[in-house]
Amino acid sequence: MHPRAIAFAVGLAVLAGSFSAASADTPGAQGVVLTGMRSWSAPADTRVVFEFSHTVTAVAPDSGRSRQVVLSLPGELVSRAPSVPGILGVRDGVVDSVEVATTVEGAQLRLFFHDNSRFHVLSLAADENQPFRLVVDVTRPGGDVAEDRRLAGIAATKRKERVRLVAVDPGHGGEDNGARGPGRVLEKNVTLAVGRAVVDELNQMPGIRAALTRDGDYFIPLRERYHIAERMKADLFISIHANSSRRRGRGSGTEVYFLSLRGAADQADADFADLENAADLVGGVPSQAEDDLVNILYDVKRSSALQQSQLLAETLLDHVAADRRLESRGVKQAGFVVLKSVEFPSVLVETAFINNPAEARLLKNPEFQKQMGKQLAIGVRTYFQRAGIGLMTPEADPQEGSVH
Ligand SMILES: [Zn+2]
Repeated sequence: MHPRAIAFAVGLAVLAGSFSAASADTPGAQGVVLTGMRSWSAPADTRVVFEFSHTVTAVAPDSGRSRQVVLSLPGELVSRAPSVPGILGVRDGVVDSVEVATTVEGAQLRLFFHDNSRFHVLSLAADENQPFRLVVDVTRPGGDVAEDRRLAGIAATKRKERVRLVAVDPGHGGEDNGARGPGRVLEKNVTLAVGRAVVDELNQMPGIRAALTRDGDYFIPLRERYHIAERMKADLFISIHANSSRRRGRGSGTEVYFLSLRGAADQADADFADLENAADLVGGVPSQAEDDLVNILYDVKRSSALQQSQLLAETLLDHVAADRRLESRGVKQAGFVVLKSVEFPSVLVETAFINNPAEARLLKNPEFQKQMGKQLAIGVRTYFQRAGIGLMTPEADPQEGSVH
């Protein structure tokens, strides 16, 4: 399913000090039910989620640094659904445990951290797919530094081995399940399995290395996904998704997207602001010419990235279609946020329709996932050939190679 950044952003409603979400969904005599309590561990942070039958008003700090945090629900009659334990052991080095205490005066949700840690509390309003949730994000102490080091390490290895680096981005993750298919098959799990398969295949190819943006079940915001790839110094970016049709059980085949700039004119300035290293583009240029030149260089970079993205999309689709189990729906363009880097060609692969029972069966089949990974990897290699980009092989003379 297509990344929907806007829907997510609107869903976040943080009020300083406490949450007072006015709501029409008034609980009945049985009160509010805590229907879910779960955690997602990412490299740099842990997200704890409390899911409720109705909107609740929590009294809690909106952020801070502490060994623990308490979310109070004063005056709320809260009961736990049978599936929700009184204590959730997390023990991932960030959050030790989470406890639910309910009394006649209200409920308390208590989080105990492994260390003195930074945290943010926010609420996610109910939408058509998800109930109301309270969320606590806890930063792993030293996690940012460790992640910087990991990504810099990938970039250094790429430079040293003189290989092409492919960033593979499994769509969705954590609270964001993506689309859902029959038999509880979730897009976020399928994209991770296919993403891992692509990386495995690419890492066996001489001159190519690959790395995942997400290697676990956690959420990464859309812009962060290509920022991770930029920090790795990736040469290509491939986001893996599964499609879903509004028509029940219908839709079939594979489509590959690259970025469309149409209807996204208002995004141009924001994109430009996103260019963290704009100054690097103009090193040594006289200051009065700087702004114009940044713009020109940015446009040149973007149009080159777009052209290469189209070639990459066409090449990948050719190879997926060669498998013959899925029809080719063609190369398409859309204004996906995740494709907006100008640093490398970027494509989004809608592998198959997860709402279609036959294709959902394929998507959750490990043999199919491996085969899809293989086809995409061969597509990447063919793209490098078609684009005239040399791949260093162990026998090649390093002086002759065009790898930078
Ligand atoms: Zn998706």
